[in-house]
Amino acid sequence: SPEALRKNLQVVFDTVLRRNPGQPEFHQAVHEVFESLGPVFAQHPEYIEGAILDRIIEPERQIIFRVPWIDDAGRVRVNRGYRVEFNSALGPYKGGLRFHPTVYSGIIKFLGFEQVFKNSLTGLAMGGGKGGADFDPHGKSDNEVMRFSQSFMTELSRHIGQYTDVPAGDIGVGGREIGYMFGQYKRLTNRFEAGVLTGKGLTWGGSLVRTEATGYGLVHFVCEMLKMKDQEIDGKTIAISGSGNVAIFAIEKAQQLGGKPITISDSSGYVVDRDGIDLDLLKRVKLEERGRVADYAALRPGAHFVSGGSVWDVPVQIALPCATQNEINREQAATLVKNGVQLVAEGANMPSTPEAIVTFQDAGVLFGPAKAANAGGVATSGLEMQQNAARDSWTFDHAATRLEQIMHDIHSSCLEAADRYGSPGDYQLGANAAGFVKVADAMLDQGV
Ligand code: GLU
Repeated sequence: SPEALRKNLQVVFDTVLRRNPGQPEFHQAVHEVFESLGPVFAQHPEYIEGAILDRIIEPERQIIFRVPWIDDAGRVRVNRGYRVEFNSALGPYKGGLRFHPTVYSGIIKFLGFEQVFKNSLTGLAMGGGKGGADFDPHGKSDNEVMRFSQSFMTELSRHIGQYTDVPAGDIGVGGREIGYMFGQYKRLTNRFEAGVLTGKGLTWGGSLVRTEATGYGLVHFVCEMLKMKDQEIDGKTIAISGSGNVAIFAIEKAQQLGGKPITISDSSGYVVDRDGIDLDLLKRVKLEERGRVADYAALRPGAHFVSGGSVWDVPVQIALPCATQNEINREQAATLVKNGVQLVAEGANMPSTPEAIVTFQDAGVLFGPAKAANAGGVATSGLEMQQNAARDSWTFDHAATRLEQIMHDIHSSCLEAADRYGSPGDYQLGANAAGFVKVADAMLDQGV
């Protein structure tokens, strides 16, 4: 009965609170998934009977470790490293590593929990995990980043493997860091185990399109959403937050399809460029010079930098949050709605607060949730693992076509699940339900 279900959910939420005190991001992620799944639980009493909810909220394993390293001044520094191996029902744990000063257990757990359902949605055989450290790469020299990455891998290496747990990048971890970590793994184990990390360099086991995949996949997903409304991205103005890997390649794909991204941002502010973002300049400033968005604005006639403030004040038809968690709150969502936004799709993980999501849904704004819309990154990691297992490397076109097909299939799975569970067109319910059901069924199959 709905009454019994409510009670069961309350017990689960209480357990999450009790076992994970002071971790609001993790609580938020669990709430967001379970609150929307009422219709799923009503049709699947076996999930309640099998205590799937109680089991799925508890990571299979959590590792917290010391990361000592020596800075350029010769001083010993210490950071804290994490790997949360959340769920392996569908395959080896898979998910990125985040190096950012805000990293703590609550962030890694929310990301790991999301990753379980996201990876399920891709249709590839991957469980979910996440890791990282409270290390701030900003302002560190290349040698410092190398020594930190090596020390981090010295401990992590004993927990990962191509059949066990396969990390990749996330905020603060890109090709450079993956390179240093892969080198250290190889040194420690004497194994060229290409499938132990994804996001590798192209000459040593990496996949074409992996760098572009999250941003490209996001735009493919947006196009699928628009197609349902007989619309296309061509000619639409787009606000994008962030200026990292996800943002840059979302801009690239949107521009290829005729869309007009006019903003970028970072932690110090945002840039409005009414003529449309100059992609070559952005890549030079961000990827080659590791600069800031203010540096872009200084080099680009007509663009202006706004210190602080909110990128969501800029009136646009499409908003793509590609920066970080909880970057759109209720007021910012209301501003976007007031200015006529038609579609919001999440490139970052959990960028919209629960109140922001309600604001979009109440206003009839098309909303593409992260675990579906940004799944192209990890999906292409899955393709990298396939190539590694076969000692193969695909062409750009082959990998790009596979990615596009996967995003198309994720979009269909979301809509089918939304129909089956009584909320046609609801991508949030659809993504949560389609992702959850596969994991829950596998857990039932595999026993307690
Ligand atoms: N960090 C990315 C994500 O949030 C990708 C993870 C991966 O490729 O394993 O999905």
